[in-house]
Amino acid sequence: MPINRFRNGLKHQGQLTPYLALLKAHYQHDNLNSLMCKSTLSVDWQGFLYDCDFNQMLQLPLGAAHRSPCHITDIDLNALTQQPITVDEHCFGCTAGQGSSCGGALK
Ligand code: SF4
Repeated sequence: MPINRFRNGLKHQGQLTPYLALLKAHYQHDNLNSLMCKSTLSVDWQGFLYDCDFNQMLQLPLGAAHRSPCHITDIDLNALTQQPITVDEHCFGCTAGQGSSCGGALK
């Protein structure tokens, strides 16, 4: 997953751009239904919500594109199902090859 320390290591070695291109080239549409962000949430120690563990580590909160970070005390389960998932280029790490999640490969 090209985030934080691993991302910095790739960048330091001049491998970040090729690695991201490799992930994009191995995108598998079939992985989309199994992504952990489709069925789970991540909650930080202060109660703020994220679409997944990776987004939490990147401080990309649930609903980042539309409003301020969502706290667990404000959660609206009906609205949650309509809300877009916060994504960025690291998400290609989940959709490449056999897929990736906090539990390992998706397939
Ligand atoms: S990194 Fe992106 S694709 Fe992967 S689980 Fe999180 S939001 Fe979903």
